[in-house]
Amino acid sequence: MGLVIDQFDCRSDNFGVLIHDTGSGLTAAIDAPEEAPIRARLAERGWRLDHIFTTHHHIDHVEANLPLKASFGCTITGPAGESEKIPGIDRAVSEGDTITLGGTEIEVIETPGHTLGHITFWIPSAKVAFVADTIFSMGCGRVLEGTMEMMWSSLEKLLALPDETAIYCGHEYTVANAKFALSVEPGNAALVKRDADVKRLRQDGKPTLPTTMALEKATNPFLRVNEPEIRAALGLEKATPAEIFGELRRRKDNFR
Ligand code: ZN
Ligand code: FE
Repeated sequence: MGLVIDQFDCRSDNFGVLIHDTGSGLTAAIDAPEEAPIRARLAERGWRLDHIFTTHHHIDHVEANLPLKASFGCTITGPAGESEKIPGIDRAVSEGDTITLGGTEIEVIETPGHTLGHITFWIPSAKVAFVADTIFSMGCGRVLEGTMEMMWSSLEKLLALPDETAIYCGHEYTVANAKFALSVEPGNAALVKRDADVKRLRQDGKPTLPTTMALEKATNPFLRVNEPEIRAALGLEKATPAEIFGELRRRKDNFR
């Protein structure tokens, strides 16, 4: 039995994602950024919405929870760490929990930092991770609620996933992220190539996501904190990985 994954644009730069377990016919939305595009895609596919799997409480990830629940009666699953902030939540999950969509098993990985309760949904059988605002292509989420150390440990957890893992992210920030990445690692040939590739994709009106863990390991400065070129660019040759991460994140916050 298989899993169909359908990613589409929502809001100005969010992604909506539907996952559909073909054996059971069950469908889940990974986050609910905007009602109309999610409804439209469900109708196109002829799917009904059985679940919403929420990654974190930000409005651009939960805005359609209540309207979709009102019409489909879907079950909303979200992070125990911030369950009081998830509209319509029915089931709170935390690190190591396994949830199912028909025959598909989905593991919960806690990835706090962007928010304190942020979770990632990892599907081992399909080698797919829904990381929302933890990792972006060549970037990462802003550290809004947690600490730099906390966010770095979350990224380290995700770095343990297999290289071939498909990484679905919450936002299409890739071209801007590439510009920052090149500013700290201009000598990275894989990064130069990825920058050209994503510009072409955007010119053609195509998404740059999902990405893969292998590609992010090769191009994402926030995952490459031990690279000598990055350490030298920051003037922090002897710092710990978490310190390098924190300095990169602060510089990105102020980067134009
Ligand atoms: Zn967010
Ligand atoms: Fe977001």
